[in-house]
Amino acid sequence: ESFEELGVIEPICEACRTMKFKKPTPIQIQSIPVALEGRDVIGLAQTGSGKTAAFAIPILQALWEKPSPLFACVLAPTRELAYQISEQFESLGSVIGLRCAVIVGGMDMMSQSVALGKKPHVIVATPGRLMDHLEHTKGFSLRGLKYLVMDEADRLLDMDFGPIIDKLLQLIPTDRRTLLFSATMTSKVEKLQRASLASPVRVAV
Ligand code: AMP
Repeated sequence: ESFEELGVIEPICEACRTMKFKKPTPIQIQSIPVALEGRDVIGLAQTGSGKTAAFAIPILQALWEKPSPLFACVLAPTRELAYQISEQFESLGSVIGLRCAVIVGGMDMMSQSVALGKKPHVIVATPGRLMDHLEHTKGFSLRGLKYLVMDEADRLLDMDFGPIIDKLLQLIPTDRRTLLFSATMTSKVEKLQRASLASPVRVAV
């Protein structure tokens, strides 16, 4: 199986080659075609499985087809993970002119506000700081959002981000697509899934 065979467009296949992704990993083989069809996806996969590219590639492809600012938002439990995710987005998306911003706690609010004012295509965020900006940064909203990703959803919920995520869900369009990735399927993840995904396809590796 190749990225081409999964329906990935040539500029993104080229980015995969540049990153030395010779062939898609199992989670990518399962997730990319269904996400490209526009379905919501629940992916059960561990770190190291290639899960980041499994959600980044279909989002970048949708962005390439119909670009708009503040196109996608990825929620991550930690700063470190947020930076790793944004690095993968930037490596895979530079060929299509991707602009990405990382919005995490412990960093300067003001410079983040400036970054948001430049209307990046993708925001990778920890939930608390994203909510701070939605409440305090003038002119910033997620009303045009097309894709929401919740990465490491089990950890997001273990860190008690559940109530903030519930609030965030009130502030983003309901006609968006949602991709949820988790290492484990816990009852809290099930509950979040029911509150945020529409007839999802479940994939597991
Ligand atoms: P992740 O599970 O998203 O944290 O990815 C783990 C590592 O695998 C990252 O360093 C990726 O750059 C790399 N990776 C992702 N997809 C592939 C692929 N198809 N082939 C080779 N390496 C990959």
